[in-house]
Amino acid sequence: MTAPGSPQARIRRPIHVMAKPTGATCNLNCSYCYYLHKDAAPPAVWRMSDEVLENFIRQFLATHPGPEVTFAWQGGEPTLLGLPTFRRILALQARYRGAGQTVANTLQTNGILLDEEWAEFLRQNNFLIGVSIDGPEELHDHHRLDKGDEPTFRRVMASIELLRRRGVEYNLLCTINDANGDHGARVYRFLREQAVHIQFIPVVERVGDPDPSSRGQDLTRSSVRPAQFGKFLCDAFDVWFSEDVGRVHVQLFEVQVAAALGLPAGLCTFNETCGDAVVLERDGSVYSCDHYVYPPYRLGNIAEQHLSELCSTSAQRRFGNAKRDTLTKRCRACAHLHRCHGDCPKHRFATAPDGEGGQSYLCPGYLRFFEHCSARFDAMADGLRRGISAPISASAFGESVRARKVGPNDPCSCGSAKKRKKCCG
Ligand code: SF4
Ligand code: SF4
Repeated sequence: MTAPGSPQARIRRPIHVMAKPTGATCNLNCSYCYYLHKDAAPPAVWRMSDEVLENFIRQFLATHPGPEVTFAWQGGEPTLLGLPTFRRILALQARYRGAGQTVANTLQTNGILLDEEWAEFLRQNNFLIGVSIDGPEELHDHHRLDKGDEPTFRRVMASIELLRRRGVEYNLLCTINDANGDHGARVYRFLREQAVHIQFIPVVERVGDPDPSSRGQDLTRSSVRPAQFGKFLCDAFDVWFSEDVGRVHVQLFEVQVAAALGLPAGLCTFNETCGDAVVLERDGSVYSCDHYVYPPYRLGNIAEQHLSELCSTSAQRRFGNAKRDTLTKRCRACAHLHRCHGDCPKHRFATAPDGEGGQSYLCPGYLRFFEHCSARFDAMADGLRRGISAPISASAFGESVRARKVGPNDPCSCGSAKKRKKCCG
């Protein structure tokens, strides 16, 4: 075992650790939350102890190979820890930072507890804040209610306004679920009025939250349907592409331009393999991924084994490579494999058209999205290769395709060799 904090503990590539210092404890009761029911710990130990916090900060700084280290604080709701704990976190980071190392912090929040004091703290210490919001009022309040089943939209909007006014850097995280899933263009237009950095994440949860390796499609009601998901992305993309490229940054779209350039996507869902982003629970346990906080994917505890070792175990390598090694025949033959890489393994509980198990539940949605948008991703990538900015490429592309129509009898671009009308189109 490597001594915590020793230089030998460093690993070659950066790892991302999502720290959950409050576990699943949250002040909201969002109906689609996959995480709330994981909270079996007694209330007395709902927060990470100072010992675990210090251990983690020391080990993470020692582990990280680069000069810039980013701590990601998530929940549950991390602001429940209160400002004194975050001041303590900064003090520990200052104590254990190596020579030449700079430290950044990101924090994902529902925004409910933010006030002037929080905003000032976050601004002074350059935190990057992610605020969860699901669109306009009635769409957001459909699922995002507090413990008393009261709506939260107005409180979240007040926090966004506070962050904007105080000059705190923030982005918005919007889930795509059954309620807002039919409103891609509307949700996107709403979000772009509030922020220039937007992330979309699909809600795909199965009843009873079974181990992700099991099959079967008993979806919760709040989960987005595949066709709905595809249409949401297409509708949001059309608005973004024609009006906002270069001005508004939508992670899910911009990573596809990166993929078209042959670069790593930068979003694990679309990477070839997994395994570079682990989760630290409040008791010091480390799990393979935020979507795999289940006993079989527990790598160990930082009190017993150094973080760098836990992230480099053969179990974690197998977990990471399984994304590539368990692709279905359908995925391996797909013309969009380089963009999609078969989607997140947690979503692979559906059956492919040829009867093979292990297909992404969202595959029909992704096919529709790629079919609809990939020529435009390629055009932007091509422009960038030639030194032309993405907004200019987007505008030129719009001109050039107006007369060039793809018909229902043309071959489907997914590579199935079927006509578009009989396949994804
Ligand atoms: S679009 Fe569907 S078939 Fe193609 S790689 Fe993605 S999940 Fe596989
Ligand atoms: S399992 Fe899914 S969420 Fe986890 S790293 Fe892989 S793609 Fe990302």
